[in-house]
Amino acid sequence: MLTSEMVKKVAREAGADLVGIAPLSRLMQAPPETHPLNIYPKTKSVVVLAGRILEGSYKGVRENADWSTYWIYGYGTGIYGPLGNAMRMTRQFVESHGYETVVSPGGHTFLPHEAPPHRPPVAEGKMPSNVVLHMRITAAAAGLGELGWSKVFLTPEFGPRQRFEIFLTDAELEPDPLLQRSICDRCLHCVRDCPGHALYSKHKKVSVKIEDRVFEWGDVDLGKCKLTHWGLNELASPFVKKDMPGFKMNIDEQTMGWFEAINFGRALSQRSRYLSTVANGFDELGQGGRPGSICGAYGCIQSCYEHLKQTGRIGKDKRAYYLQKDDSAKGGENHVE
Ligand code: SF4
Ligand code: SF4
Repeated sequence: MLTSEMVKKVAREAGADLVGIAPLSRLMQAPPETHPLNIYPKTKSVVVLAGRILEGSYKGVRENADWSTYWIYGYGTGIYGPLGNAMRMTRQFVESHGYETVVSPGGHTFLPHEAPPHRPPVAEGKMPSNVVLHMRITAAAAGLGELGWSKVFLTPEFGPRQRFEIFLTDAELEPDPLLQRSICDRCLHCVRDCPGHALYSKHKKVSVKIEDRVFEWGDVDLGKCKLTHWGLNELASPFVKKDMPGFKMNIDEQTMGWFEAINFGRALSQRSRYLSTVANGFDELGQGGRPGSICGAYGCIQSCYEHLKQTGRIGKDKRAYYLQKDDSAKGGENHVE
């Protein structure tokens, strides 16, 4: 009989750093645009594989020396290559036991109100043709960690440093327990150090309840974040200003959404020497010429990671602590009043 332990062993041996399993029941309240049954109607379990972002990936950005290492080596060959291989091996293993596996892309982080326009359905009465699971909520449901205040996913092992791949299966696998304590201590270093001024301190919270645990995070201004991440905000990047003297962007005055910001970045990346150097082949819309991660997630990943490491809240033996119930916290320590 196929067990969760067998699946996890294969995934780890094939290169995944973490593996978690969610039962369908934990995702039944998901909106239709991110609902597992709208991708694969026979779903019984959702398996999430995580690959760590290597610590050295950020050094180029932190030292103002090489902005491309985080993006090109950190994401590309550093994570998605090995993680894709682990996915394939794990799915092959599950299917060799007579089950089906269906992929949902591991980079999707939108709530319905934040998402780009949905593609039209292929037939009347059908869902839009780009239904995908919300990667971070799914990873939380699979017991891997939680969304920090910054909305970036935190795990006990790596803090904010990981990316995911996800597959759905009709195999009924033993689920992992949800984290019971919060990794995020609301230090707000992410808010303080975000050069895009895209994270807020207390207002505009988003909450999701899964079983007895409330996951809560701050709403993010995705337009400001994307403009900054792409290097168009001079507080985060000297390049556009150098290549285009006279270009001014006061990030606080920008009101464009994520969709407009990604299109604007894509247009400019072709015309800026440095941005085109670190541009990637395809963007989230499947179109070419995506600029690189010039901001280097300075606030939401780098500052958060430094804080969690320095305060001893993360490490390779920390998971057991976060799985213990904290009876003093109402709805989980993650609640911010
Ligand atoms: S920087 Fe602090 S407040 Fe922000 S997500 Fe990390 S731990 Fe939470
Ligand atoms: S990616 Fe950059 S701009 Fe976006 S929230 Fe993180 S630190 Fe801020």
